[in-house]
Amino acid sequence: MKDDQCIFCKIAAGEIPSKTIYEDEEFRVILDLGPATKGHALILPKDHYKDLFELPEEKAEKVIRLAKKMAAAMKENLHADGFNIIQNNSECAGQTVFHFHMHLIPRYEGDKQKIGWIPGKPSQEELEEIRKEIVGEA
Ligand code: AMP
Ligand code: ZN
Repeated sequence: MKDDQCIFCKIAAGEIPSKTIYEDEEFRVILDLGPATKGHALILPKDHYKDLFELPEEKAEKVIRLAKKMAAAMKENLHADGFNIIQNNSECAGQTVFHFHMHLIPRYEGDKQKIGWIPGKPSQEELEEIRKEIVGEA
């Protein structure tokens, strides 16, 4: 379940060196080379899944458990004031490496990073239409 062309497969397998902050049989957690803030890390499954939609449910459960554990340790040891957990799927959503990964981003008062979106202003009717579309009532 590895992809020969995938850099995160190679990093997760230890074939390319990384700054590893956690490792077990199924996951490696590394420091991001282009960090948003001090300590920005990535959870990588050792098997290759392109994105969340390919990730098996049991791995997804483990990822969120690991994210919680890592976030708590990083918040404590780096004295972070807050935390973002982000996971991008597809180019249009900002994914640039097509091996599932979850971003762990410690936040610090005044760190000036912007992680967000431009809020829309939907009416109650529009929200209701969207709700129906999602749950299959449309
Ligand atoms: P995304 O845009 O969600 O696909 O995130 C990809 C992330 O991987 C970015 O934050 C990059 O800085 C990071 N990245 C890319 N290559 C490497 C690498 N070789 N080692 C560590 N982080 C990397
Ligand atoms: Zn891969």
